[in-house]
Amino acid sequence: MTSLAVTQGIKLAVKNDDQPATRVKVGDLVVGGETVIVMAGPCTVETDEQLMETAREVKEAGAHILRGGAFKPRTLPYSFQGLGEEGLKLLSRARDETGLPIVTEVMSPEDVELVEAYTDILQIGTRNMQNFPLLKRVGRASKPVLLKRGMSATIYEWLGCAEYILSEGNPDVILCERGIRSFNDVTRNTLDISAVPIIKQVSRLPIIVDPSHGTGIRSLVAPMTKAGVAAGADGALVEVHCDPDHALCDGAQSLRPWEFRALMGELEPLARAVGKRLS
Ligand code: PEP
Ligand code: MN
Repeated sequence: MTSLAVTQGIKLAVKNDDQPATRVKVGDLVVGGETVIVMAGPCTVETDEQLMETAREVKEAGAHILRGGAFKPRTLPYSFQGLGEEGLKLLSRARDETGLPIVTEVMSPEDVELVEAYTDILQIGTRNMQNFPLLKRVGRASKPVLLKRGMSATIYEWLGCAEYILSEGNPDVILCERGIRSFNDVTRNTLDISAVPIIKQVSRLPIIVDPSHGTGIRSLVAPMTKAGVAAGADGALVEVHCDPDHALCDGAQSLRPWEFRALMGELEPLARAVGKRLS
């Protein structure tokens, strides 16, 4: 048993002799195995050209999974809300063309059936981490769930939310540390790297890091991705845009394709240093 006191009452997400580490299968890929899985792509699906060009670039650089939002949780109702089903169709076309599985966010229980029909992984965003009806609904879905940590959530609350999904029967939950609110006013959030070894010690679930939302600053994305992998993360979620200066959302934290390629090159030896591989 663990010595970290964050698992009281948590039954299914904990790691013990009866419950070994969870390996989440996504097509031929395994999240939580020997390969560091990199999910990359634009914050938001904007146009056919933008998505296809970015998808081709991240595929060529060695990404394993394509990310892109079709239903976007925005701070203001006046901001671009995403293309909805049209965005899902574009994502599925990008998957056909590149062979990359896709991960995209679902914001409400009513949309789960639709999003599930297109995507390979259902993403629950930070703002919805404790949307219990949504958690219960994806717990009955047939696709793996990427559960982002709430921006003000403790590790215990986060594991409790994973427990909602697991207890409905879906065993395939991937945790994603995406940064929490702190008094640091330089970065958008504070990527809590310590969450990675904590989760590894107490939970059977795989954990990845999101250094894009975790920092909000392009120049910090590569170092924090590497920090996450060095700490034992099973992968990373990285925003990449073919033209970040004109992105409709999160351009300032999106890597340019060549910056993403460089990062993938730097991750390779790092993955090996922690006994894993990148491809
Ligand atoms: C995203 O990944 O596009 C996103 C909205 O992230 P978060 O929920 O972590 O803010
Ligand atoms: Mn984003």
